[in-house]
Amino acid sequence: MNYKVAVIPGDGIGPEIVREARKILGKVGERYGHTFEYQELLMGGCSIDEYGEPLTDETLEAARASDSVLLGAVGGVVGKSDWYKLPPDKRPEAGLLKIRKGLELYANIRPAILFDELSGACPLKENIVDGGFDFVVMRELTGGLYFGERKTVEENGIMKAIDTLTYNENEIRRIAKWGFDVAMKRNKRVCSVDKANVLDSSRLWRKVVKEVSKEYPEVELTDMLVDSCAMELVRDPKQFDVILTENMFGDILSDEASMVTGSIGMLSSASLGATKLGLYEPSHGSAPDIAGQDKANPIATILSAAMMLRYSFDLEKEADAVDEAVKQVLKDGYRTVDIMSEGKELVGTVKMGDLIADRI
Ligand code: NAD
Repeated sequence: MNYKVAVIPGDGIGPEIVREARKILGKVGERYGHTFEYQELLMGGCSIDEYGEPLTDETLEAARASDSVLLGAVGGVVGKSDWYKLPPDKRPEAGLLKIRKGLELYANIRPAILFDELSGACPLKENIVDGGFDFVVMRELTGGLYFGERKTVEENGIMKAIDTLTYNENEIRRIAKWGFDVAMKRNKRVCSVDKANVLDSSRLWRKVVKEVSKEYPEVELTDMLVDSCAMELVRDPKQFDVILTENMFGDILSDEASMVTGSIGMLSSASLGATKLGLYEPSHGSAPDIAGQDKANPIATILSAAMMLRYSFDLEKEADAVDEAVKQVLKDGYRTVDIMSEGKELVGTVKMGDLIADRI
């Protein structure tokens, strides 16, 4: 098959890590008989320099016309770069919001994987994480408290702020479907996280998720309150497969989940919508402090490309091959500087890409 991939390298280490992900896709194509046709697009600081805005409508249109989008990272040194003298809606990161909104991406998946070989980087005790863990946080991205009506008023000399948390059943149903679809490709367990003992929106969430679960009889559904989930993530992260939750809870829990893996250069992410078109990107930023030095860990971007194979193109065995190649490289003792430990072999960005490609 031929797949049209819009590639947005972005700023800082973005071009370096995206180049390695393309190297891996090239190897996958060779091995499994696919072709990937790339269109390079500008977003972030480089787009401001070229066009005066972080994401032009034409670029967004080109991304929309592709089968999927692979993104590096955008942004410069906050406060130092001239890009940050611009108003907030003209800065590099505004491109991220515009593309997610423009592509109508309402589901965000952030895997939290602790590779056994990197367990030293995990802040949790060895007996908790022995053998590693592998779960994903599936977060609703365009509804809830962050998008509800808000205002600040003064009443009788007292300041009052109001934020509104709204979900309708359709918004819940479509993200729940993604949660169950992803569980079907994994270990078939969904833990739906809410605050149903207090919030009406959570009670509706729980009801709709239960209804959707009937379409997926093979998937085991459990419910958990968000405060319990925050505790369980550090007490026993191995229990989870897919954590399905609303926007604000997902924002907080996915950051907590990232922290327990300990290595930012390893964390991939995907944003999905109603179609197969997704936006795949590492969870980290553009790391301007190490840009252009062949120091960046390309694994988060490579694992994001693997998610693209899995979720946008339904290329399961190809995605497994990439995941396995990453595990094998770690097992063979190769490390970029961010995950380096004693007795391992230090490699740069390009070499890490080569080593992974060799194992596909
Ligand atoms: P960052 O994630 O870029 O970097 C934090 C630290 O982690 C730095 O020390 C960096 O060197 C290191 N790091 C990050 N990714 C790495 C990798 N792949 N390999 C090795 N080390 C890595 O976060 P920051 O410093 O807060 O932000 C830098 C810029 O990135 C800012 O302009 C910020 O706005 C932007 N940003 C962009 C995105 C995005 O594009 N999605 C996300 C977060 C931050």
